[in-house]
Amino acid sequence: MEIEKAIGRLKINNKSLKSLLSEDKSDKDLLEKIEANNLAIAALEKQVGKKVIKESWSPAKCPTCGTYLSENMGDGYYKDFEYLGRCPNDECAQKLDWSDEQ
Ligand SMILES: [Zn+2]
Repeated sequence: MEIEKAIGRLKINNKSLKSLLSEDKSDKDLLEKIEANNLAIAALEKQVGKKVIKESWSPAKCPTCGTYLSENMGDGYYKDFEYLGRCPNDECAQKLDWSDEQ
C-alpha cells in the first residue's frame, strides 16, 4: 500500500472513531485508538515529501517544525539548502520537497 493511501485510510478510521466518541466522550479505549491513529498519521506524513515554505526575502522553512533551511547571505539574500532531503532537526526529520510546482 502506498503511504498516501495508508494515511487516507487512517484518517477515515479516525473519523468513524470520533463519531463513536460523540456518544461517549469518556471512552478511554476509543480515545487511545484515536491518539494512536494520530501518531501514526504524523509519522507517516513525515515519510511523504512536504513542500518547503519559501517566501521572498525570507529563509526557507521546514513545513512541519519551522526550522530554517537557508543560510543568511546578508542584504536580505538567503541561500537555500536544497541538498537537504530531510529536515535537519532530528526530532522532526520531515522529508522535504524543494520543487516549485504546486
Ligand atoms: Zn522540521
